[in-house]
Amino acid sequence: MKIIHDEPLRPAHSKRAFVPTMGALHDGHRALIQQARHLVGTEGEVVVSIFVNPTQFGAGEDFDAYPRDLQGDIDFCAREGVDCIYAPSVDGIYGQRAPGRITIDPGPLGDMWEGSNRPGHFAGVLTVVAILLHKVQPDIAVFGEKDYQQLVLIRRMCRELSFGVQIVGVPTVRDHDGLALSSRNVYLDDAERAIAQAIPQAIQASLAQASRGEQAAVVAAQTVLRDAGLTPDYLVVCDEDLGPAPTEGSARLLVAVPVGRTRLIDNCALRIGGDDDN
Ligand code: AMP
Repeated sequence: MKIIHDEPLRPAHSKRAFVPTMGALHDGHRALIQQARHLVGTEGEVVVSIFVNPTQFGAGEDFDAYPRDLQGDIDFCAREGVDCIYAPSVDGIYGQRAPGRITIDPGPLGDMWEGSNRPGHFAGVLTVVAILLHKVQPDIAVFGEKDYQQLVLIRRMCRELSFGVQIVGVPTVRDHDGLALSSRNVYLDDAERAIAQAIPQAIQASLAQASRGEQAAVVAAQTVLRDAGLTPDYLVVCDEDLGPAPTEGSARLLVAVPVGRTRLIDNCALRIGGDDDN
């Protein structure tokens, strides 16, 4: 396995799949790496980047505290048969910081939900993903549905700006009690970890009510969170492209919930309407 920091990656000689991460790798990342391998086969090349991107963290967010374990990540990737780890420095990505640096504008969808709670977050995400894609030059890039709004915005960026890379989404990997795996789960103490179970429970409640319509789906989830003493930053149903929720058909529930000082996000696919009892 090759480990590259700021030196250029060699051009791909076979199909290249790319998994961008911020490190502190867990089973969710493992699923992305395995999907990447599946897509390019043993002949192809899997590249994993590890870069905690400062520009997607707001002032007062957890950039400094974000878990970092490069050696653990290297061992993890070696076990998964990754071909190349790309772990650039901040200067290697952004170079000398000039005032008025050019960034990707995510458009109005970047100001909603995660974007309204974390101003500038998606400009930071799209800009670093654009830089990473240009440096790595993959055929395929693999992202988690865990960050659903991010996945949709990256898909749109690559399509609308003709990046010529295929974006593949991977379903969310969950812990035994349903909590979505996240590098930030290590911030939770035991009591918070127990309370956080209410998030997947809220999702289940919402799924159970979705046939009765969007409102019923939202209220069911809100009730479970409220009963656990949690107040979401947002809890919405939208369509699969982040547009308004359909009265009937495929939709997505998106939720963000502070648990103590940790902000957790989750989402699930829903089928709205179609309840014959109504
Ligand atoms: P991160 O390191 O948290 O920036 O995540 C890197 C990639 O892994 C992103 O595409 C995430 O959506 C994805 N990811 C993170 N957690 C999970 C999970 N529990 N299941 C699936 N993908 C995940």
